[in-house]
Amino acid sequence: MRIFDPHIHMTSRTTDDYAAMYAAGVRALVEPSFWLGQPRTAPETFYDYFDGLLGWEPFRAAQHGIAHHCTLALNPKEANDPRCLPVLDELPRYLVKDSVVAVGEIGYDSMTPAEDAALAVQLQLAADHGLPALVHTPHRDKAAGLARTVDVVRESVLDPALVLLDHLNETTVDAAADSGCWLGFSIYPDTKMDEHRMVRILRSHGGCLDRILVNSAADWGNSDPLKTRAVGDAMLAAGFTDDEVDQVLWRNPVAFYGLSGRLDLDVVRPEPTHEGNSLLRGGE
Ligand SMILES: [Zn+2]
Repeated sequence: MRIFDPHIHMTSRTTDDYAAMYAAGVRALVEPSFWLGQPRTAPETFYDYFDGLLGWEPFRAAQHGIAHHCTLALNPKEANDPRCLPVLDELPRYLVKDSVVAVGEIGYDSMTPAEDAALAVQLQLAADHGLPALVHTPHRDKAAGLARTVDVVRESVLDPALVLLDHLNETTVDAAADSGCWLGFSIYPDTKMDEHRMVRILRSHGGCLDRILVNSAADWGNSDPLKTRAVGDAMLAAGFTDDEVDQVLWRNPVAFYGLSGRLDLDVVRPEPTHEGNSLLRGGE
């Protein structure tokens, strides 16, 4: 089973996770920029983080045979902090980089006017750069959050066929499917969506099988980087074919992020060091 995790925050994960993901079949992933838990206090800290997603993390992933791409953006939560807003002016300098395959994650956290503004600006940035957009939908008040997200996408210049609506569940899948956007589902160990509920949605929405993506959204919270594999296994146990599993876990993410024209799935053997640093902490 070949797996492409289209949304995972490897900066928060360990080397063991990379090894376990490779053993489970993960050969490619996309790491969206996001909130770090600890609020940032200055825009410059974003730029070091973006550079890490463009440099160090792909270097680390390549040691484990996994192709790493990223999406960059000012995340919804920190769009509410005026100290972070200068990031919006610097983003164009980053969005031209080769391994940036979308603008994201953008969208709503608490649905504030500041989030409205940042979302609209960044959908425009995606259109200006010929990039798709990864849109986070809120974990609270999901139906209202999804409706408002779809309205803003419709008002933007970005084609819904270039938008992935993420963190969907049973309450939002129908409205999201009607929007013409791609449909993303994050599978968590104990809350929100699990692999068995995911299989039921895949069954009831078989007509959307060519635009459904499944991710682990693993980060610093309670999460599991092997949840993509768990969905593949649950699909097979429920009678889906190998080809259908490959479509959801590999071909759909390749098709969506391929819209950027920048997806390169060859894992080249990494240089022994990145900017003079190795994984060996000084020893060779
Ligand atoms: Zn995320």
